[in-house]
Amino acid sequence: IRLQQKLKPDLEIKRVLEQYSLRSRKEDKKKEEIYSEKKTFVAVKPIEKVSTKTKEMEFGGRIGTFMLMLVLPATVFYLLLMCKQDDPSLLNFPPLPALESLWDWRVFGVILLWFFLQAAFYLLPIGKVVEGLPLSSGRRLQYRINGFYAFILTAAAVGVLLYFELELHYLYDHLMQFAVSAAAFSLALSIYLYVRSLKAPEEELAPGGNSGYFIYDFFTGHELNPRIGSFDLKYFCELRPGLIGWVVINLAMLLAEMKIHNLSVPSLSMILVNSFQLLYVVDALWNEEAVLTTMDITHDGFGFMLAFGDLVWVPFVYSLQAFYLVGHPTTITWPVAAAITVLNCIGYYIFRSANSQKNNFRRNPADPKLANLKFIPTATGKGLLVTGWWGFVRHPNYLGDIIMALAWSLPCGFNHILPYFYVIYFICLLVHREARDEHHCKQKYGLAWERYCQRVPYRIFPYIY
Ligand code: NDP
Repeated sequence: IRLQQKLKPDLEIKRVLEQYSLRSRKEDKKKEEIYSEKKTFVAVKPIEKVSTKTKEMEFGGRIGTFMLMLVLPATVFYLLLMCKQDDPSLLNFPPLPALESLWDWRVFGVILLWFFLQAAFYLLPIGKVVEGLPLSSGRRLQYRINGFYAFILTAAAVGVLLYFELELHYLYDHLMQFAVSAAAFSLALSIYLYVRSLKAPEEELAPGGNSGYFIYDFFTGHELNPRIGSFDLKYFCELRPGLIGWVVINLAMLLAEMKIHNLSVPSLSMILVNSFQLLYVVDALWNEEAVLTTMDITHDGFGFMLAFGDLVWVPFVYSLQAFYLVGHPTTITWPVAAAITVLNCIGYYIFRSANSQKNNFRRNPADPKLANLKFIPTATGKGLLVTGWWGFVRHPNYLGDIIMALAWSLPCGFNHILPYFYVIYFICLLVHREARDEHHCKQKYGLAWERYCQRVPYRIFPYIY
């Protein structure tokens, strides 16, 4: 009731409510005429059992997803090979290594150990348990929030290993083998996920990964929230093994740089890249609860796309700048470092405050802290923020993320485009992701979404796009 009072229902909502009112049908008939005359209202769908089959395929459908399954691992492979070259210019194609040099059972063992260590941390009964957003069945799943504790425990474990003089340099020397092992593991995980999804009930399948075509569903993820007991596989992979792994790889690169170049302290560029990315990871783990309202959790199934993305792409591609700096030392001055730091802080501020604003609003629209924010009511009962960050552009969180991505590349100087791969790829990813989200929101909110787009015309970049 409080929410309804706050919403001050507009005609569109009234129309929904009136469906269930006990007013005489004659009166309703008159209203019906008014509505049809204006023709500005979305038709209210009758309550019926909706088919969960995916009708519109994304990512170029079956052919597109098949190609992506080849292109994504090839890109990781190419980037890592390029980064090891003295001259990583785009046209200087690296020689291919011998096949047998790519596999090492010991490295694969380390990957398994890492995954299961993180799984053990996830299972620890520390940290609060929260509910996710309601599923299509109305049920809410429970999630344990202890990612930050997992990070602290991992940091302590790495600290102990370093104390006993374990060479993290090993990671630098065998990075390609680690990436290949992680890719093999993510492929095995994807096969497991697909096989188990064949037995999942219809209502537990992902709305976007239930086309009936094997390749497409395998790639996008057939089951929405695959769980073994209370162990949520997608939620676990989203922020822990890959994201924490990324920070450990960065640290290994920092130590490798000091060792190879005989430095007593790491270079300023390396310090910046490590600190910015550490902040990003710590922030994600500290605000772990916010991941529950993201598209990955609420919409996308768990298949090859997320398994490969979380376990291979994030740790091995996102650490490219640190990897690059080991072989290609770059000197930057203190004023330049200060300017890049300011840029990163601006990006972080936009990213964090936009994500928190939306997350808090979705969790509790009546939160007094959000009382100053205006929103458009929608027929689903959820509102769309039109002031604050979400009134600035339609995806302010993406804008902040892209600014940070640029700040992570700048410490690598301008000699090569390779360390800028991340920011270029990320702009493409987020522009595409924004278009997907736009499409979903249009379907969910209809006219209300159109009104939102009129009020907030820019998607990500103000006055540009
Ligand atoms: P968002 O967190 O941006 O969520 C989009 C959803 O927000 C929409 O579907 C809609 O869902 C809701 N929404 C949209 N507009 C409004 C509004 N005006 N008011 C209230 N709610 C609104 O999507 P992502 O999951 O893509 O991104 C989450 C974060 O993760 C971002 O910061 C992004 O930059 C980051 N990210 C990082 C990646 C990386 O590799 N580093 C990869 C992908 C994302 P509903 O209405 O159903 O709640």
